[in-house]
Amino acid sequence: MELVIYYLGFCYNALVKLISILGSTGSIGTQTLEVIQKYPSKFKINGLTANSNISLLKKQISQFKPKAVALMDERSAQELQKVVKIKVYSGLEGIIKIACLKEVDTVINSVVGSIGVEPTYAAIKAKKNIALANKETLVTAGDIVMKAVKKNKVILMPIDSEHSAIFQCLNGEDIKKVRRIIITASGGPFKNHTKKQMEKVQLKDALKHPTWTMGAKITIDSATLMNKGFEVIEAHHLYDMPYEKIDVVVHPQSIIHSLVEFEDRSVMAQLGNPNMKIPIQYALTYPERLPTDIKILNLAEIGALTFFKPNLELFPCLKYAIIAGKIGGTLPAVVNAANEIAVSYFLQNKIKFLDIAKTIFKMMKKHKLIKKPTLEQVLKVDREVKQETRSYLNTKS
Ligand code: MG
Repeated sequence: MELVIYYLGFCYNALVKLISILGSTGSIGTQTLEVIQKYPSKFKINGLTANSNISLLKKQISQFKPKAVALMDERSAQELQKVVKIKVYSGLEGIIKIACLKEVDTVINSVVGSIGVEPTYAAIKAKKNIALANKETLVTAGDIVMKAVKKNKVILMPIDSEHSAIFQCLNGEDIKKVRRIIITASGGPFKNHTKKQMEKVQLKDALKHPTWTMGAKITIDSATLMNKGFEVIEAHHLYDMPYEKIDVVVHPQSIIHSLVEFEDRSVMAQLGNPNMKIPIQYALTYPERLPTDIKILNLAEIGALTFFKPNLELFPCLKYAIIAGKIGGTLPAVVNAANEIAVSYFLQNKIKFLDIAKTIFKMMKKHKLIKKPTLEQVLKVDREVKQETRSYLNTKS
């Protein structure tokens, strides 16, 4: 198995990689383009997609010269088509087209939300290697997607500091000898809050992440610790690890990105300054390592690295995600859909911070579980729960 992975890794790395980036105007998308720009002899952009940010996508087109692009928003796509010579596709269908472009061998999916699930699945079926930053793919449809990865013999590399750390700690190791995976969490801006303080949290406070600079949705997910819950579910699927063997520890400095404990009680950790370009570049160049211009880690300057247990009573979202992961079936998709809508309402200042968790729990309790869903069933649950969550929150706010 190891040899096969190494061989695939070698092939994966041998030529100029032809790449499509889904979500190229977002936080991960733009950082990925910065990485790619540094190594023009290694990567070539074939396709780009965005939601509706025409002005930035236009700039990216003139700089990276893709063969085609897509915009989720129909109107924006029409507008862009008037001013560029390449083909502009639209809607989810258009995004899938870019993910499956014939020459492309690696698809970077950095789309935010469950809208990213179908393009990943389509790309895997089209035998593309995947560099995955879209959490919803594995959270909502992990069993289905990992089965497709194996069946189509493609490589799925995580673009997330935690999963990249775990991947690196597992390099050359026997997965059967792993006793525990320990995922670190920064704890977000409210890690030292009391229950009373939590009730008064404002949107602007939640958007201030202490260590990482990220998009708005994931920043809120980090403040509720839902992001960590999703990462537990992703780790379960990526490394075929039972939930009992996955732990979360709060580590406010975000220097250790995750750890792996082996049978002999030896623990491996991966460290680095909190900068997404490290996991992004590693996902693209694996098994090779290339220089970056990221600040060198100076442990003496940082001083103490501290750790503590997450408080599941103060951060119920983490608990809900883990419960949903353990129960499995369609329940993780319910948590994700309810969270996606609740967070969007919170970002519009329509609900309070603590309403996010309450809303998710309400939708979990209502759900009729499908134990072994098809992808269509997962997507249907996603649509339905989103609609139910909207109706519930509209009557509330
Ligand atoms: Mg992460």
